[in-house]
Amino acid sequence: MLNSMNSNNHYDAIVIGAGPAGLTAGIYLSRARLRTLIINEGTVGGQMVLTHEIANYPGVESISGYQLSNIMKKQAKTFGCDIKSNISIQNIELEGELKRVTLQDGIIYTANSIILTPGGRSRTLNVPGEGKFKGKGISYCATCDGDFFTDKEIVVVGGGNSALEEAVSLTKYASKVTIVHQFDHFQAFEHAIEEARNHPKINFIMEATLSAFRGNENLESVDIKNIKSGEISTFKTDGVFIFIGYIPNTEFLKGKVELNQWGEIVVKADMSTKLEGVYAAGDSTAKRFRQVTTAVGDGTVAALAASNYLHEMKSKLKNLIPA
Ligand SMILES: Cc1cc2nc3c(=O)[nH]c(=O)nc-3n(C[C@H](O)[C@H](O)[C@H](O)COP(=O)(O)OP(=O)(O)OC[C@H]3O[C@@H](n4cnc5c(N)ncnc54)[C@H](O)[C@@H]3O)c2cc1C
Repeated sequence: MLNSMNSNNHYDAIVIGAGPAGLTAGIYLSRARLRTLIINEGTVGGQMVLTHEIANYPGVESISGYQLSNIMKKQAKTFGCDIKSNISIQNIELEGELKRVTLQDGIIYTANSIILTPGGRSRTLNVPGEGKFKGKGISYCATCDGDFFTDKEIVVVGGGNSALEEAVSLTKYASKVTIVHQFDHFQAFEHAIEEARNHPKINFIMEATLSAFRGNENLESVDIKNIKSGEISTFKTDGVFIFIGYIPNTEFLKGKVELNQWGEIVVKADMSTKLEGVYAAGDSTAKRFRQVTTAVGDGTVAALAASNYLHEMKSKLKNLIPA
């Protein structure tokens, strides 16, 4: 195994993930003159790069997710932050004063503090056309994309609290919302079911699922399959919102840091975990609202808390050295 552990590979802080939470943490830590490395498995920007337009980031009227990611990346690098992307982590050790991250190529990086920001992903239906029309008619976020469907007819897939609450919130924009759900009943709070049932703009297709997405450049229709009879019909629609669950990217952290029953990282108000020097931020943490702004806010808090921890650690070490 290639083991090039040396002082060049030691950082004050390592950030796992380069979505908005991780990039913000990188900006704050490097600007505080702390030697910082961001390690990212995918493309820099995380989920932001999946959206062609972000119109709710304060101060920026409209920008593509890709552009916003590049600006954040440039900002972090300008302050001296190192970024390694498109690389997998083989092992991570979070206990003790010295944290250790081993990459797939065997290189080991160490740090006194770690900020975990691996984000997450929406559960997908996995049916033909879903990949092609993601961002071109298919969305997983009502807050992000609802406005793009003003006066349009849309479909909402799902039967839990998120699906019903988001369906109601989408009626602010859409002229008609059709909820498609696989069972004959909903798995949501009674008040959410009642609100959706009584809404004049909402219709229901129960015991059914989407079996294909169709269109040319943008989504134009979906195939709806009746689960009991197997019959498939074509349904014209301008957009589909899918709310069938959310998966945090925390599989690699199982047994390493406290996760709740949904696999989300448990954090305190300052984004610290139960492990000394280990913080978490963004969509992978246990919280209700997942947006670029909330990720950026979490990343800021985590970085400031980690900076405090590192400064306290450094002054303790200084006091131990005899004059
Ligand atoms: C299609 C779509 C449209 C959206 N539109 C908007 C919008 O308009 N406005 C808005 O505010 N929000 C929007 N969002 C939500 C927003 O993008 C997320 O809330 C935000 O990106 C979360 O940031 P994050 O940094 O926590 O995680 P992510 O953005 O998920 O980034 C996490 C990063 O960590 C990396 N990673 C994962 N696992 C590992 C690992 N083991 N090792 C190393 N790296 C790892 C990933 O590759 C990724 O780069 C949208 C989301 C989607 C999917």
